[in-house]
Amino acid sequence: MITNKEATSIKPQGRRVSRDLPRMTLAAHLHPHGMRVTPQKLAVFKVLQRDNYHPTPDMVFAEVRKQYPMVSLGTVYQILDQFAEIGVARRIFSGGNRQRFDGKRSPHAHLVCERCGRIDDIEDRSLEALTERFARKFDFQIRDHYFEFSGSCAGCTRRRKRRNRLE
Ligand SMILES: [Zn+2]
Ligand SMILES: [Zn+2]
Repeated sequence: MITNKEATSIKPQGRRVSRDLPRMTLAAHLHPHGMRVTPQKLAVFKVLQRDNYHPTPDMVFAEVRKQYPMVSLGTVYQILDQFAEIGVARRIFSGGNRQRFDGKRSPHAHLVCERCGRIDDIEDRSLEALTERFARKFDFQIRDHYFEFSGSCAGCTRRRKRRNRLE
């Protein structure tokens, strides 16, 4: 039963709830693993939520340090490792020799530029169709997938063409 008190406390908080959404989402990920949300974890999580962003641990560290100057790189590594372990983030090894992280958990593929290391997200329905087709074809229950297309991004291709003309 919803009491009057609860009903009134739900309504005006509409705004606050949406502002706290990252905290609530992170808590939902961490609690089943017996982990608590800390300000540093939340800060790392928020950095990883940026659109089309696949940062290195150093990039995450630089961002989190703006808010928490006392945080160490070791702590950021530890949080990223935990996140990768429980599926809050995904580790990406391509696009340069440094590992990078992806906070987007919805199914998507990557376009990886072998020249500048740029990684772009592709969200396309055909990926789902392909996954379903493979599941049927190989009688395999697909839990997760990771598609990656490597090559040269538009900017790098343009630069190379320009260089070739000059030579
Ligand atoms: Zn490039
Ligand atoms: Zn991605």
